[in-house]
Amino acid sequence: MTIHADLAHAVGNTPLLKLRRASEETGCTILGKCEFMNPGQSVKDRAALSIIKDAVERGDLKPGGTIVEGTAGNTGIGLALVGASMGFKTIIVIPETQSQEKKDMIRLAGAQLVQVPAVPYKNPNNYVKYSGRLAEELSKSTPEGVIWANQFDNTANRQAHIDGTGPEIWQQTDGRVDGFICAVGTGGTLAGVGMALQDKGVKIGLADPEGSGIYKLYTGKEAGGDSITEGIGQGRITGNLEGFTPDLCYKIPDSEALPIVFNLVKEEGLCLGGSSGINIAGAIHMARELGPGHTIVTILCDYGNRYQSKLFNPTFLKEKGLPVPDWMDGSPQSIP
Ligand code: PMP
Repeated sequence: MTIHADLAHAVGNTPLLKLRRASEETGCTILGKCEFMNPGQSVKDRAALSIIKDAVERGDLKPGGTIVEGTAGNTGIGLALVGASMGFKTIIVIPETQSQEKKDMIRLAGAQLVQVPAVPYKNPNNYVKYSGRLAEELSKSTPEGVIWANQFDNTANRQAHIDGTGPEIWQQTDGRVDGFICAVGTGGTLAGVGMALQDKGVKIGLADPEGSGIYKLYTGKEAGGDSITEGIGQGRITGNLEGFTPDLCYKIPDSEALPIVFNLVKEEGLCLGGSSGINIAGAIHMARELGPGHTIVTILCDYGNRYQSKLFNPTFLKEKGLPVPDWMDGSPQSIP
């Protein structure tokens, strides 16, 4: 048994899990990398750890220093948990319109929460811009150092996947991996794993939710729509995506991704967030394109308990006109 020195050391080295139905339906081996098994229950713990380590190595963060980021999502949780474990404070800036669930979660992870009005990116009080300014201001009075994590353009994010996720997948499959596919939020995971495995002959695919612009940037093809999935979708080539191009791109509607998430709960005991559904749907597309007998790896980004008020809430699904699986509805069943 391994004893980790602290929580930061428990990040990464996640298992691969064979996805039974997806594999059976395609004749391929479709494997999910269990990123929900990281301490903060998401893939973003890896980026958080890498960003913090990089800042420490550069001398920008000393013991007692502060990490600032504008995010309502998994990166905030990762930065707070990993940061605390390494002796740093974390301040997370979010739009006040974010759900109570998310605010509570960031606080549970030990971060200080700063709420700002929900305004567009061009407004100087937008949460991302505000977090950058807050970091700059605080650094004037904090000798221990303050960093702005800046996950979209800070390439320490993708480095976590160049050094960790990609090589782990290679080793875990003994190099017998034909394809890798995932969605893009910052692009750290896709570009990082891509940079680690593309040169080894692994086909790298983008799975993009509707309403995201990155598919059009890579393919030139229009794709509108909308998605209830969270943490993914991108409209620009972020710093983390620069210098990388996927081999294959698929646009995935929620109507394809959500049934996969719901079936996994019922049939495989796996409760995941919506972005994992987009990823698995993408893996199925890639499997069909490559043909039977191939091995394709995707990312199981986070655990479903984070989405109880939306993805796993029958009322929310009905409001959105999305189908509600029968097991979720809670109607009494007749006793035979
Ligand atoms: N899924 C979820 C649930 C996420 O929070 C994120 C990160 N925003 C992603 C996928 C995408 O990961 P990346 O930022 O590495 O592109």
